[in-house]
Amino acid sequence: MKNVSRRSFMIFSLGMGSALWLSRADADAPHLSEADPAAVAVGYKEDAAKIDKSKYSNYSAGQTCANCSLFQGKSTDAWGGCTLFGEKLVAGRGWCASYTNM
Ligand code: SF4
Repeated sequence: MKNVSRRSFMIFSLGMGSALWLSRADADAPHLSEADPAAVAVGYKEDAAKIDKSKYSNYSAGQTCANCSLFQGKSTDAWGGCTLFGEKLVAGRGWCASYTNM
């Protein structure tokens, strides 16, 4: 029984260490630049309020990366992954023309 507890503790510790390392790695990931050609192609802005509404008529007030189904972070995260941009993080309050409702 003592060995099971020790093994459980070791597995738990490794899991926590990995989780901390992964969250730190995510936080250190580069942010997507608005000037990145992939970002320009979909009109990405770090602040949805700066979207050119005459150019992107599909934008609706209240839409942000944080409530887009492609956002990989939590809805409260300032930055998070997006399935469109690989390792680069997008701003939670950002937006692009590929916005998809949850
Ligand atoms: S697809 Fe969604 S999460 Fe990704 S940049 Fe566009 S609006 Fe933001």
